[in-house]
Amino acid sequence: MTAPHTVAAAATPEHQAQVAARVKAVEAIMIEKGLMSTEAVDRVAEIYENEVGPQLGAKVVAKAWTDPEFKKRLLENATAACAEVGIGGLQGEEMVAVEDTDDVHHVIVCTLCSCYPWPVLGLPPNWYKQPAYRARIVREPRKVLREEFGYAVPDTTEVRVWDSSSELRYWVLPQRPAGTEDYTEEQLAALVTRDSMVGVGTVSA
Ligand code: FE
Repeated sequence: MTAPHTVAAAATPEHQAQVAARVKAVEAIMIEKGLMSTEAVDRVAEIYENEVGPQLGAKVVAKAWTDPEFKKRLLENATAACAEVGIGGLQGEEMVAVEDTDDVHHVIVCTLCSCYPWPVLGLPPNWYKQPAYRARIVREPRKVLREEFGYAVPDTTEVRVWDSSSELRYWVLPQRPAGTEDYTEEQLAALVTRDSMVGVGTVSA
């Protein structure tokens, strides 16, 4: 999927620079006051840039596709099910996985800011944090999915939008694509994209 144009256009460089400057200032004060160390900050950034990402969510999805009991536990309590396979942590304390079917397609947003399930998806993409996506996906989800992400949801499929918060972070268990009956769990995991777990796309084989 390509980055949505109108959404990306809303991210002004001025705004991004302001946010970055504010973050740097807070970081500097906390280090000065001994509340945290530069090493700790670097390590956290490194973890969420290189080690935690959608590949972990993809593993969970592939396991759910091949293990019905695990899938049941995942839909009941995503945080606990992820912990079973050693996945969890910051910004993933309360996760909820919602399952796509032929009847329902789910898509996630944080209308207030950018809450996102870090342990399974890593850091949110820029467009997810932009006001344009946050406002429009709620008002006209079908149109946004079609125009910005090239995904036309069938008319017979209901679209549900889930608003994440700092207390509750949603993500999507996409549908397993047809023709993958003989795939191993690793092969399946390789098909699963970040966008399909955000709900702005689907998985294809
Ligand atoms: Fe948020």
